[in-house]
Amino acid sequence: MESNKKRKIVIAIDGHSSCGKSTFAKAIAARLGYIFIDTGAMYRAVTLYALENGGIVGGIVNDDAIVSLLDQIEISFRFNPTRGASDIYVNGEFVEGKIRTIEVSNFVSAVSSIAAVRTKLVAMQQQMGKKRGVVMDGRDIGTVVFPDAELKIYMTADATVRAQRRYEELKAKGDDVNFEEILENVISRDKADMSRTISPLRKADDALVLDNSSMTVEQQMEWFDAQLERVLSL
Ligand code: C5P
Repeated sequence: MESNKKRKIVIAIDGHSSCGKSTFAKAIAARLGYIFIDTGAMYRAVTLYALENGGIVGGIVNDDAIVSLLDQIEISFRFNPTRGASDIYVNGEFVEGKIRTIEVSNFVSAVSSIAAVRTKLVAMQQQMGKKRGVVMDGRDIGTVVFPDAELKIYMTADATVRAQRRYEELKAKGDDVNFEEILENVISRDKADMSRTISPLRKADDALVLDNSSMTVEQQMEWFDAQLERVLSL
């Protein structure tokens, strides 16, 4: 029988927009040899598809049109060794580069509040984590997707710090970005994600809070190691 320390678990990371959830989750997955699943990328992929196929026209999100597009959307992941994470594909097309634009960011919360969109993506996520050994980041992982996750982390950071990080990330990629627009998007996405009716962002009762406003990645990993040690020794 496997010792407790080797046992594979599910690590659920939820929290506010742009607080470094994916960076943190990716580092944890690499350290443990787990699969990292960025569920935000899946909601972004559906949003991109909706933008490109008549589900969002003239800035108006058409829920019915998006629901009728869902059967045409086949999402898959392929591991990219350079990034140390999986890239996302829609119907075989690489879309990793197209899903992080401010345009997709501006519509993703509305798209992710559609019940049928969530039903489809949550089922996929549960399937991907069935064998455990996954680090999944999103908004409803510890509350809805894996309420039985052995380790749940709720991440947050000051909104200005988060917007600054996102601004630098997009600028480094060569995007033409505006700090105020990013700050506004970060704040409005949090508000929409926390106030929606279905699966709103909230801290699971048994989640640990990690506020990384003034923490380095190394400090976050030290904090994580201590939490993991505790969970695995239970
Ligand atoms: O994590 P990221 O910021 O890329 O997520 C984009 C958006 O996708 C979030 O603002 C939220 O509206 C939606 N989302 C969600 N449930 C998840 C992951 C993301 O509703 N599990």
